[in-house]
Amino acid sequence: MSTYLGVDIGGTNVCYGISNADGEILYENSFKTDSFKTADELVSKIHSDLKRKQPLAGIGIGAPSVNERTQCIEFAPNLNWGDIVPIQKIFQEKFDIETVAVNDANAAAIGEKTYGDAPEMKNFGVITLGTGIGLGLYINNEVVIGANGLAGELGHSIIRPDGRECKCGNLGCLETYIAKEGIVRTAKEKLEFSSGGSLLNNISPSELSPTEIFKAARKEDPVALEVVDLVTKDLAFAISNLVNILDLECVFLTGGIAKNGNLLKRKTEKHLKTLILPNLRDKSFIKISSINDKNSGVLGAIASIHSKVGILLS
Ligand SMILES: [Zn+2]
Repeated sequence: MSTYLGVDIGGTNVCYGISNADGEILYENSFKTDSFKTADELVSKIHSDLKRKQPLAGIGIGAPSVNERTQCIEFAPNLNWGDIVPIQKIFQEKFDIETVAVNDANAAAIGEKTYGDAPEMKNFGVITLGTGIGLGLYINNEVVIGANGLAGELGHSIIRPDGRECKCGNLGCLETYIAKEGIVRTAKEKLEFSSGGSLLNNISPSELSPTEIFKAARKEDPVALEVVDLVTKDLAFAISNLVNILDLECVFLTGGIAKNGNLLKRKTEKHLKTLILPNLRDKSFIKISSINDKNSGVLGAIASIHSKVGILLS
């Protein structure tokens, strides 16, 4: 039986798992990303953890800011391992097996197509909502890579020209409002001007997280509801632009923030209603990824290598 290693490198956690070709996870583990000063340290740690679990048929890596043509992580604003990190080369040399690196959002899209709800879909997007905001796109049944291997940086589309400073150097990028830090920042700004009756005041500022904010919104906390309303409105703007330009049949939401499932979906749908062009309104929908709870990042990375090596093996 062929087994594959999938590695999902995020701004907060590195998760990895071994699965068979059907996407059944046989082993998984995770580390905090900032516990490694370099990518080499991370790869050595994973290698020693998996020593007894080899042989593997291949490794798939999903990471932010991967240039799929160079197979390097390039200028990732949410990672501190240097400007250019040859991530595929480091893994391949250490493990000495076929390795592929893909943009984490593309990995999520490939995972959705292989193991999720999109096997029949030819035009769809997967938005990853976490430390950053990414987009994996299938157009005409193919993943969009772009001219330079860098397509899908939805998080850095500018929604407020004079808005918040982004780690990429621009002002007003989408992810400064709807990624993890952006949501918490909005909540802190709103709390400063609230009368003090919010449930969020009971949480220390360093503990405040999107999960806590969505939890308070479910209890009808007015400040939390206002934050969720702003976040879902910005998300709806981004989705409507995608759908109106690309005529997508579905946009999947995945990542840590998408674990707030129904509330996130319901509020985003409410804002979307008027933003999507009338002739596309009933033909496109949003969905929380059904593989999100099963670690879609790892599954996506596995699907990426399986689609490459699996064909060679079969
Ligand atoms: Zn940016």
